[in-house]
Amino acid sequence: MHITVIGSGYVGTTIAACFAEFGHEVTAIDIDEEIVATLNDGQAPITEPGLDDLLETHAGDRLTATTSYDAVPESDVTFLAIGTPSNDDGSIDLGALEAAAEATGEALREKSERHLVVIKSTVTPPSIPEQLEPAIRNGADDNDAVEVGMNPEFLREGSAVIDFQNPDKLVFGTNSEWASNRLHEVFEPVLDAETPVVETDPQTAAMIKYANNAFLASKISLVNDLGNICKEFGLNAYEVMEAIGLDDRISEQFLRSGAGWGGSCFPKDVNAIIAAAREEDYDPALLEAAVEINDRQPRRMINLLKNHVDLQSARIAVLGLSFKPQTDDIRNSRAIPVIESLLSHGADVVAYDPIAIDNMAERFPDIDYAQTAAESLRGADGTLVVTDWDEFSDLDTEFDEMTTPVVIDGRRCIEHREGIVYQGLTW
Ligand code: NAD
Repeated sequence: MHITVIGSGYVGTTIAACFAEFGHEVTAIDIDEEIVATLNDGQAPITEPGLDDLLETHAGDRLTATTSYDAVPESDVTFLAIGTPSNDDGSIDLGALEAAAEATGEALREKSERHLVVIKSTVTPPSIPEQLEPAIRNGADDNDAVEVGMNPEFLREGSAVIDFQNPDKLVFGTNSEWASNRLHEVFEPVLDAETPVVETDPQTAAMIKYANNAFLASKISLVNDLGNICKEFGLNAYEVMEAIGLDDRISEQFLRSGAGWGGSCFPKDVNAIIAAAREEDYDPALLEAAVEINDRQPRRMINLLKNHVDLQSARIAVLGLSFKPQTDDIRNSRAIPVIESLLSHGADVVAYDPIAIDNMAERFPDIDYAQTAAESLRGADGTLVVTDWDEFSDLDTEFDEMTTPVVIDGRRCIEHREGIVYQGLTW
């Protein structure tokens, strides 16, 4: 098949490269000329394990990138993978996606064969009939050959390629058997007897994505709430959670309490579904509590540090800046409120991350950045571990270089050793 993928960010680049690997001919379309040039050079515009190899293999062959929408009508299926960031009130900003949807429609105005436009972006259910489908249809001048579907994406940054090639489930939200069949053709290489395919309508497909993320985020917040209570009782939350994970109904997944969830999806998606529910005059009390508990965790880390260090003019190392290991993405990373709070207390921050320093330096240009974790610890009065990069578990004698070796671990990745004051967030 020939597939056009509109938007070459974390999702668009991953799916374009993987579709090429599946054997499809892929045209990646992005408005950003630098991203297009990077892709055509066979490099990934983002850091994601395995992505560079796929692009090196397929760029210039089965995968080409362009800023033009001309390839859309030539292709069989178009995926819209445009960002849907948060507005100040938590609702999603559909501006960029609507513009891309309209441009896609315009490109399909004259096409006479049926063409499927699939929304890959995470969008609220009502926005499909109210905004996105009309944008595509108006652009296409009501061309009946154009059909709209929804195929939410569940990949995780840091393991995006592996996740996309080995999905737990595929959700096809379509309005016709023809559209569903097209999606089966697109995903044929990963469709085996073990991969469940959920066939539904586009709005239900969109809701499945929100329900999925809201459930996972709430599970972590519940575990963090219980973890905070354990800490107040002087108990180890990990021992408690290991035991409750033995219950099949609970499962052992997502029971690691700590600094909370971040990234480009959980915060945005939970806030978006809260805002969309409020639009319908529904008060989603549990989801609001999940957000509140998540906001609390960085504050609890700072409070634990304050029990041992006067933060005014203290040198504090922040270990880990990306929202989770294996990615350079800092969107909604817990390191952001941690650094903000340290600065508001008058501390001098020295931050370290294996790959996310450049991104964080755009957000906080005036703090110090270290080249290694060891360098950040040298002369520090305290350290906060915010992301569980593997290399942090190997830190040992490096803590001896601190002026006062106070370690507040938000991810349970540092071994408690002689000579350091160690505090786990929930253990
Ligand atoms: P992103 O911001 O990384 O990428 C979006 C890309 O779209 C950018 O490269 C931008 O230049 C491009 N773009 C903007 N307007 C355009 C236009 N009119 N035409 C062509 N290109 C345009 O976004 P992302 O993280 O890839 O997320 C995309 C969607 O997928 C979002 O709705 C997100 O919620 C969802 N999602 C993301 C993840 C994730 O892990 N990042 C996982 C699942 C779902």
